[in-house]
Amino acid sequence: MITVEDALNYILGTISPLGLEKVNILDALGRVVGENVYAGRNIPPKDNSAMDGYALQWEDTIGATRETPVTVDVIEDIPAGHIPLKSVERGTASRIMTGAPVPGGADAVLRMEDTEKDGQRVKIYAEIKQGEDIRYAGEDVQEGELVITRGKIIRPAEIGMLSSLGRSFIYVYQRPLIAILSTGDELVDIDETPSPWKIVASNSYSLTAQVLDAGGIPLLLGIAKDTREDLIAKFRAAMRADIIVSSGGVSVGDYDLVKDIMREVGNTMEFWRVAMRPGRPLAFGNIEGIPVFGLPGNPVSSMISFEQFIRPSILKMMGHKNLFRNTVNACLQDDIRKGKGVKNFIRGRIEYSGGKYTVSTTGEQGSGILKSMVGANGLIILPEDVTLARKGEEVTVQLLDASLERTAQPCYP
Ligand code: AMP
Ligand code: MG
Repeated sequence: MITVEDALNYILGTISPLGLEKVNILDALGRVVGENVYAGRNIPPKDNSAMDGYALQWEDTIGATRETPVTVDVIEDIPAGHIPLKSVERGTASRIMTGAPVPGGADAVLRMEDTEKDGQRVKIYAEIKQGEDIRYAGEDVQEGELVITRGKIIRPAEIGMLSSLGRSFIYVYQRPLIAILSTGDELVDIDETPSPWKIVASNSYSLTAQVLDAGGIPLLLGIAKDTREDLIAKFRAAMRADIIVSSGGVSVGDYDLVKDIMREVGNTMEFWRVAMRPGRPLAFGNIEGIPVFGLPGNPVSSMISFEQFIRPSILKMMGHKNLFRNTVNACLQDDIRKGKGVKNFIRGRIEYSGGKYTVSTTGEQGSGILKSMVGANGLIILPEDVTLARKGEEVTVQLLDASLERTAQPCYP
């Protein structure tokens, strides 16, 4: 048997980031940037006003109060987006709107609230400092400055920055195409009414959703019968993908042919018994350079194996540095018994209250009990050497939902 860690390290050691593609910035949301972005211009491009008010020379405001206002001549109106035509001198001011360019001669802007219009003149009610309420050219971004570093994930803020620099396209890491195959004579597709001895190939759907959730592009290959011909044909159709994922047929049953087919066609197939539960059988290797995962068929096993091994692989291909779900410590609410020597991924319901996480199991934990996943927002990870985890003990929980991340105190002081 191989440990989860060893399997994961081996798998990730064979996976490299894909190439780059140029996409419209709005399609780059959540993607990893593949270039260093330098500013091609200053932001703001010119000195401009941070307030609606009057551009003037600050020394004209010295001593001004509501009781002892200073009065100056208004020589121009400057709306945003318009060029000032006149220069300000001592004793004059230009009425200016937020974002409008500061006229020559002015060294401060006095906000509207501290003034009162008086015909062609304005009363100044407050003293201001030199440079007050002027936003200087390049104050946000200097031309030539590095604004977005290769490897960063694009969020709305980065899209705003790129657009203000006039960059409508950006290089990001490609999204991998993930071929998904269900195998088994007992499987039918979703719209067929299954006879009592058939079931819907639900793994195709849960795996597709997991691929989308990780940022990959699913390529649905449908259901392969447990025959050599069908399996070979389906694997052949998968050869344009960046990763091939199949479920079922990797254990020791009479019709578990996936293993044999993979062994024949793969260059480096490994057939592991991973020291984990659920998800013990796992095939991994490559066929003509394409990484292939043969997951066990049980619906919970296939989802957990995807979480632990394929999700990080997809993220690595997409250029991500942080490949793993966050884990937190939580106070266990049930007793859990387990076998020695295997890492368990128990489906748990984690809650945060009073500065602490608590976690309970989602009930029956069989690898065919998909309901245990439906109720789960985290996976309780019990290490290999543990055989009993008691109520009240602190356990590690892998969060399946990032919105649960909080700063929590330890379980016991
Ligand atoms: P196998 O690994 O092929 O022995 O399958 C183990 C169990 O998982 C069996 O009960 C299968 O019916 C079930 N199973 C296999 N593939 C799927 C699938 N795509 N969707 C749902 N259940 C499946
Ligand atoms: Mg099968």
